Amino acid sequence: MQNEKTEIRVSQSFKEPLIFELSQKGKKGYTINNRDLDDISIDLPDKYLRKDLNLPEVSEPEVIRHFTRLSTWNYGIDLNFYPLGSCTMKYNPRINEEIANNSYFLNLHPSLKEKHIQPLLKLIYRLQELLKTITDMDGISLQPAAGAHGELTGIFLIKAYHKFKKNQKDIILVPDSAHGTNPATCTFAGFKVQELKSNKMGLLDIDVLREHLTDQVAGLMITNPNTLGIFEVQIKEISKLLHEKDALLYMDGANYNAIVGKISLKNMGVDVAHLNLHKTFSTPHGGGGPGAGAVVVNQKLKEFLPSPIVEYDSKSNFYYFYKPTHSIGRMKTGLGHIGMMIRALVYILSWGSEIHKIAEYATLNANLIRKELEDVLKVASELPTMHEVVFNHNQLKKLGYETLHLAKALIDYGFHPPTVYFPLIVPGAIMIEPTETESPETIKKFTDAIKDIIKKMEENQENLKDAPKTTFVQRVDEVGIAKNIIVNYFTK
Ligand SMILES: *Cc1c(COP(=O)(O)O)cnc(C)c1O
Repeated sequence: MQNEKTEIRVSQSFKEPLIFELSQKGKKGYTINNRDLDDISIDLPDKYLRKDLNLPEVSEPEVIRHFTRLSTWNYGIDLNFYPLGSCTMKYNPRINEEIANNSYFLNLHPSLKEKHIQPLLKLIYRLQELLKTITDMDGISLQPAAGAHGELTGIFLIKAYHKFKKNQKDIILVPDSAHGTNPATCTFAGFKVQELKSNKMGLLDIDVLREHLTDQVAGLMITNPNTLGIFEVQIKEISKLLHEKDALLYMDGANYNAIVGKISLKNMGVDVAHLNLHKTFSTPHGGGGPGAGAVVVNQKLKEFLPSPIVEYDSKSNFYYFYKPTHSIGRMKTGLGHIGMMIRALVYILSWGSEIHKIAEYATLNANLIRKELEDVLKVASELPTMHEVVFNHNQLKKLGYETLHLAKALIDYGFHPPTVYFPLIVPGAIMIEPTETESPETIKKFTDAIKDIIKKMEENQENLKDAPKTTFVQRVDEVGIAKNIIVNYFTK
């Protein structure tokens, strides 16, 4: 039996086929009297009439129930805690949606001229200024569509800088604790990547950095706080070493919620960083929704930023597009993902001068998890935990289980599993990020569920290797799904 304190999934899910399987010839999802259509003649040339669409034919209740039923199979942040590490799946306040859905924003056309979109440009300008203040940097571009796209923008800036200075540099150093997108970005941008092995504590090793820091090195790309959820305390020394060689420091600031309002990127010697607006400053994400990977830079890189940037002329009270002198060009059509900018701005303004509390609550929550679980799981680094905490699989292995078993068993308790097997430098990693929006009560329910599962593993009273058992779809063939994708269903 479950421990009384823990949650368990009890909801019912309905079986539901594909909508194409529900289809029956001649069924309609609308009720319009044919006579009402008599006066409307639609003269579309034949070539525009698609006759081979094969759309499903179902009644209105069937459509509604189909999608509502499918939605009950789904898991989302509005249903329960979403502890994915490295993803920052925080609750997205409803006021964000309310404002982003304002018809003014919804009806704007992407190619409108400056004079027609002054209120929007004012909003973007305000967000640019706030993010520059929050990070203590000199320039910003809100164009990038996501974190990885922000990385690409930042690395292009480093490339443009060295080209401008006629520096022959083609290597970017990346610690082995980096997010997977970092080495991918550098390679995509045409650099050679050299991996730096972290020290025992999970930090960048200064001696290893010294060894690799040749004249060929264009920059270092470091995630801070890193993927072990710990702060790179030697960041100032790191930037000093790099700058002595005119190499630049790129900071992956996707995890900025751990330090927002607490630090100055400029004082740390960072030349360029990206922030994930869709992690640090709310926004619903996951499942491939849009993001926004704002890139902040210091004076060295300011005039290389993508164009346009929104600037303000106080004399004429006019917001206008500015093209930096050596701009790398556009990274995105339009102005970027405006909806994400609006949500980020609302989130920032709703915290106001208390914005540093995001970092405090996020860190406090991660430490609550660490404290609650340190007797049953082994933490990956003894250094202080920031916004997320990583455990290894050692305790589970002793009991004859794997990280995957714990992750799948959590689903039966109504929780989304945490990130598992990442970062790669931790054996069987279990990476948990609670974010600042969760209450201690929710976190305790989650840690109680983990403790309960581990107790069951110890007592060996239940086969946990088959979990989840209470969900509609249970164990799936994950490899098979990835390898044998059925894409031709519609044309069958
Ligand atoms: C999420 C994340 C990224 C990538 O961001 P996307 O928006 O998913 O492209 C990069 N680095 C770190 C450290 C991250 O956590």
